[in-house]
Amino acid sequence: MSDKMPGWRDIPIGGMILDAGNSAKYETGTWRSSKPIWDADKCIQCLTCWIYCPDSSIQVKDEKMVGIDYFHCKGCGLCASVCPDKVQAITMVIEET
Ligand code: SF4
Ligand code: SF4
Repeated sequence: MSDKMPGWRDIPIGGMILDAGNSAKYETGTWRSSKPIWDADKCIQCLTCWIYCPDSSIQVKDEKMVGIDYFHCKGCGLCASVCPDKVQAITMVIEET
């Protein structure tokens, strides 16, 4: 064992953000243990899920929800929680491995 304690210069560099907005490049969907399933027939297009999703994974086109971006969705379940009780257009299911 070395008799010299490592200093901060010896710690590997990590967690650096080199480009603004680079989070879009990272496939965070692989972190998911649960997956939101959207039922387009039940959806009333209130877009509450879009407002709350912390990963900008609710896909919207022409002011309407069109799907879920599974490349970035981390499966937090917030979208299912905020979808109105009388609607429940998003259901969380266990992610298949
Ligand atoms: S589960 Fe979480 S990250 Fe995925 S779409 Fe819903 S709110 Fe967004
Ligand atoms: S919160 Fe529910 S009803 Fe509203 S847009 Fe999202 S899925 Fe549709």
